[in-house]
Amino acid sequence: MPELTCHRCGSDSLDVVEVPMDWDEVCCRDCGEFITTWGAASQDNQHSPLVHACFQTQQLARSMGISLAS
Ligand SMILES: [Zn+2]
Repeated sequence: MPELTCHRCGSDSLDVVEVPMDWDEVCCRDCGEFITTWGAASQDNQHSPLVHACFQTQQLARSMGISLAS
């Protein structure tokens, strides 16, 4: 299970279904705030396409002798 906390009250007590599907909602048990869906939560643990693109850009820039980071 991904590490998630409620962005409203900071609680890590989240409503968890036994067999979560991608479209199932993850909600805070304390304040009922909607956190995310399981599909989005499990994708957060991998490199998102955007992060992947950033890495590639950084590598490309490095190979061209350009420094993106200070
Ligand atoms: Zn909460």
